[in-house]
Amino acid sequence: MPNRKGARNAYYFFVLEKLPELRRRGLAVASVSEAIPHCSEDWAMLTDEQKEKYAEKARQWKAKKLEKPPCQVTAPLPTQTQNRVPVSDISSALRKCDQVVLETSFYFLNIFSHGVLPPHCNQRFLPCEIGCIKYSLKDGIIADFHHFIDPGEVPRGFRFHCQAAGDITHKIPISGFELATANHSVVLRELYTFIQPHWGTWPPVYCKSDDHFRVNWCLNHMAREAGTVNHLVLLSAEDLVVDLYYQKLQKEPSKTWVCNTLDASMWDYSVNTRCRWHEENDVLFCALATCKKIAYCISNSLANMYEIQLTSSHLPLREKDSQSTINPKMIVLDAGRFQVI
Ligand SMILES: [Zn+2]
Repeated sequence: MPNRKGARNAYYFFVLEKLPELRRRGLAVASVSEAIPHCSEDWAMLTDEQKEKYAEKARQWKAKKLEKPPCQVTAPLPTQTQNRVPVSDISSALRKCDQVVLETSFYFLNIFSHGVLPPHCNQRFLPCEIGCIKYSLKDGIIADFHHFIDPGEVPRGFRFHCQAAGDITHKIPISGFELATANHSVVLRELYTFIQPHWGTWPPVYCKSDDHFRVNWCLNHMAREAGTVNHLVLLSAEDLVVDLYYQKLQKEPSKTWVCNTLDASMWDYSVNTRCRWHEENDVLFCALATCKKIAYCISNSLANMYEIQLTSSHLPLREKDSQSTINPKMIVLDAGRFQVI
């Protein structure tokens, strides 16, 4: 995996060691990134002593990396929340790179599916909408990418299952949807053009951990359908938040803080957040919107922490200018209060 150096934390080395066993169990895992979703339970069972072996491997790898040209933070910051390296020397090296962190581009990606099929089905998902944004702490949202995906031949089981499942929250029609013009091959090619390798290394992309399995499955599926390989390593936005917090304060945030930070509901109805179709149809669930809302959340907590001057690229302008209009629920409450008075 020459291009995936960024993700090598303790968990990476654990997953790497588990690969042969997963394959023996018949799982089609070609790489560490594909094996990640299968290892989290086993990892959670390890004691701190057992994890130390992998943390040591990560420390050695990181130390080696730091010997290379200074401030090369093109790949992700350390992504492990447990067994983080106690690192006076590394952190001082990273401190020098604060400016690099501010200017590093992060990509947030989501892929929605027409429903989901049970685990025994080969085809678990049918990708229908993809959204991706390029973001940095310094500049906010720099660019965005969006497509509805032509489902092509819809497997019969899938159509039946989706009909049986009834209401699909994103409301995208499974057939006859004139905006779904891009097939898997086109979407993937354009996504790769949008993201692009940096110095020969593909930058990591992030999504919320709840979406990780689906997005990673869809990426691999689309690559297979397009006759290519999936270049992208998908990491969790929660880990990114932890890393950015740690980078600034040299300590870990609580899980609650991370959860609250990524709670994006206050921006559900912000303008210029959903794709045009979901905005016009007033449907909340939009793949592009979920990516932009991660950016808003990170701007709201972490760009502030990094003392970045927030712009309309960091947060929707209205919310920044007028806090009282952020949450529709608050408006209702206020109206109620006035009525009572
Ligand atoms: Zn949309």
